[in-house]
Amino acid sequence: MVLLLIEPLDNFSPAKNILMLQIRLTCENCDKALPNDSSEAMICSYECTYCQDCVQDILLNVCPNCGGGFEKRPTRPYADLSRNPPRKDKVFKPVKINKYLKKNKDIPPRER
Ligand SMILES: [Zn+2]
Ligand SMILES: [Zn+2]
Repeated sequence: MVLLLIEPLDNFSPAKNILMLQIRLTCENCDKALPNDSSEAMICSYECTYCQDCVQDILLNVCPNCGGGFEKRPTRPYADLSRNPPRKDKVFKPVKINKYLKKNKDIPPRER
């Protein structure tokens, strides 16, 4: 079977010919707005994006999608936003069963 990729990758920058960090504008768990300049946006190494409250109080610094830890998301300079805009579609997957939480919550992220 041949799969054709007809949608352009939304984190591919034609301007720079590079893959860039996805700026996702909402918390994946609670849908809180996390604009580019938010100081509350946290990401894992795969760019799963959550608000600081969810990371601290619900996820206990364990990404429910990959088991990794979170760091504060960098802010993209305003001058770059028109060329390299935030991701347009929303990722909204409220956490129900977190199979990684039990396994990883007591292990520091860099030792998982
Ligand atoms: Zn949240
Ligand atoms: Zn993740």
